[in-house]
Amino acid sequence: MKLDSENFPLRPAWTEIDLGKLRRNLQLIRSDLPRGVKLLAVVKDEAYGHGALDVARVAVEEGAWGFCLSTLEEAMLLREGGITAPLLLLGERQEAELEWCVAHHLTVCVNELHTVRRLAKIAAAFGKQVPVHVKIHTGMSRYGVRWEEALPLIETIVAEKSLLLEGVMTHFSQSDEAEKNFANLQFARFSEVLRAMEQKGISVKLRHTCNSGGFLDLPQAHLDMVRVGILLYGVFPSQVCRKIEGIEPVMSVKAKIAAIQKLKPGEVVGYGMHYTAPSERRIAILPIGYGDGFPRVRNEGCALIHGRRAPIIGGIAMDALMVDITDIPQAQMWDESVLMGPQGAHEITVRDIAKLKKSVTYDVLTNWRLRLRRKAVNGSTTN
Ligand SMILES: *Cc1c(COP(=O)(O)O)cnc(C)c1O
Repeated sequence: MKLDSENFPLRPAWTEIDLGKLRRNLQLIRSDLPRGVKLLAVVKDEAYGHGALDVARVAVEEGAWGFCLSTLEEAMLLREGGITAPLLLLGERQEAELEWCVAHHLTVCVNELHTVRRLAKIAAAFGKQVPVHVKIHTGMSRYGVRWEEALPLIETIVAEKSLLLEGVMTHFSQSDEAEKNFANLQFARFSEVLRAMEQKGISVKLRHTCNSGGFLDLPQAHLDMVRVGILLYGVFPSQVCRKIEGIEPVMSVKAKIAAIQKLKPGEVVGYGMHYTAPSERRIAILPIGYGDGFPRVRNEGCALIHGRRAPIIGGIAMDALMVDITDIPQAQMWDESVLMGPQGAHEITVRDIAKLKKSVTYDVLTNWRLRLRRKAVNGSTTN
């Protein structure tokens, strides 16, 4: 029996990816975008843990122009999965990667002279004219050529016959907070570069600056295309950014009750004995733990069972956590519980888990371990 066969029994703990909600989010984002602004769906890190191929297939059907990825492997997996849309690799490429990129029609960001020259040579050897994007650092001090030094690099690219300057881009350090001064400064620096290009008669098809926060809150910076990541997955980049009605989280984390114990007053629970029953208690054991990416909490957080909150008691283990179900008498073995996501009238949000983890929503989505297998639901992808 193959692990990936339909009959292979799913472990009683899993992540559920609702492709119907993903589709709806894409539709809402597209209809919120001004006509003519393209959508580049950011699917790096397995589409923030949702499964890049499934997400890309839905996004292609919903009109995404192309995809952003971080690594060559990520891009190759989409190509092997049959995705033919443009794939833009963020960050910097090592020399050894460039030939692969040209051979598989992957679009790279070129941010320094050496890469421009190497890529131009390889493209010429393939007899191709290869599209490139230039990343302009306008204040984030991460990847990209410094805004004041961008024009000479751009002129060099334009002069290379085997390269086509398809895009220029920048990235905001802070686009989703109420305070927009730094984002505005970054955009002004980017606009300066665009003006200087214009004066030299250099045209470019795709000018793009916005991540989810910029898409929501900096309409003046939409230009030709936006690079939307976390919002596709139904999570707003901050609590103060503009909200789009109807956007819903795509990922849930679920587990089935794998044991039930009765506690007498004074009995203790779990490693380190961090919980002592104050009275008779009924508890459920959920077969999921920090080895699956759940934050290593003790006596904090909850699971949803039969639409009610069951508080986590004791310290969570690698493979198990315990919840108090005294007030949920109908709970039985193998009933479904929700660790992240909605159930009935309640919801445990990605942000709730981020608080337990003392981290951010991006970290929570991407760090569920793969031993929690992904179960795609409401999907009508072709495969
Ligand atoms: C990750 C990333 C994005 C997407 O950011 P979100 O906040 O998830 O929308 C956009 N642009 C670049 C350069 C990125 O690295």
